[in-house]
Amino acid sequence: MLKSRHRRLKSFFEEYDLKAVLFTDLRNIRYLCGFSGTEGALLVSKDHAWFFCDSRYTFQALEEVQEAEVKECGAVRIDTIASLVVEYGFDRIGFEASHTTVSAFRRMSEKLPGIDLIEIGSRLDEIRLFKDAAEVTALRTVATLSSQALTNILGDIKPGVSELDIALSLELEMRRRGADGKAFDFIVASGERGAMPHGRASDKLIQSGDLITIDFGALKNGYHSDETVTVACGKPGVRSMEIHSIVRAAHDIAIQAVRPGLSCKDLDEVARSFIRNSGHGDYFGHGLGHGIGLEIHEMPTLSPRSTAVLEEGMVITIEPGIYIPGFGGVRIEDTVVVTGSGCDVITCADKQLLVL
Ligand code: ZN
Ligand code: ZN
Repeated sequence: MLKSRHRRLKSFFEEYDLKAVLFTDLRNIRYLCGFSGTEGALLVSKDHAWFFCDSRYTFQALEEVQEAEVKECGAVRIDTIASLVVEYGFDRIGFEASHTTVSAFRRMSEKLPGIDLIEIGSRLDEIRLFKDAAEVTALRTVATLSSQALTNILGDIKPGVSELDIALSLELEMRRRGADGKAFDFIVASGERGAMPHGRASDKLIQSGDLITIDFGALKNGYHSDETVTVACGKPGVRSMEIHSIVRAAHDIAIQAVRPGLSCKDLDEVARSFIRNSGHGDYFGHGLGHGIGLEIHEMPTLSPRSTAVLEEGMVITIEPGIYIPGFGGVRIEDTVVVTGSGCDVITCADKQLLVL
């Protein structure tokens, strides 16, 4: 499995004429060698890989790391890396420019004199664009757990409880069901606060008649889930129901449109034109969705500016919304796996307008 992930680096070795690539981003490191700790570096050449850590992580690395030789470093990690680079004669090394601080780059340049350090931007993250079978299983597991947790706490939503109360019960329920944690700070935005696409849970109390947008996800074994429901507390008004049904229809037609070969820009337009034609075009400002995996937001991006094309094995979110200042908002989000002919929806909370 990991060997086939290493093979995805092949095009970078050729394109940039590299002898090795140095990874310091922990998501990429986990993807390529399985290490789940919080500090380390991975050097991958065409036919070998070395994982570098300090003594705090040696035992964990020996347990977890596959397809790479574990090297325990002394006080200065780059010294150990540098001596190996010299030993093997690697004179041209690629690195993750978008995950490297200026000071780390200066240190690298200082310790690796005469070696060409080649900046590769966020393109190195493209190795994680397609999810293999093990990743899809991990994403399905965390998505199911998270959806079930939400379904289980819907009964706690009633007038007088705060948005924070809802966020807390949801997080506890996820942990009870085996989540390692939450994927991000949940958005719980009720009433007029629903007009904020990223309104984090506040101490506002839920009132009867409020629409409540809950954007939530769990984290398990490094993988994230992402899903949004908008529910009503008590009977919603006519306008709330109308907005909900427009967003839901935009969400449904976008999911039906997902197929390999469709550009992410065109998929975005499927939902965007539907919302525009309903007269709410000014109230849908963000992109339709994003890739998801070891990070909550990964490639590809689904937006009017997107240049990516959908391919089998990508895992993306579909999350149209309408946000009306002074009134409130609705967002509905599912995570889907792009298949050979369409997609599988892996998040499973009810997307109807539930009246609680
Ligand atoms: Zn979300
Ligand atoms: Zn999302």
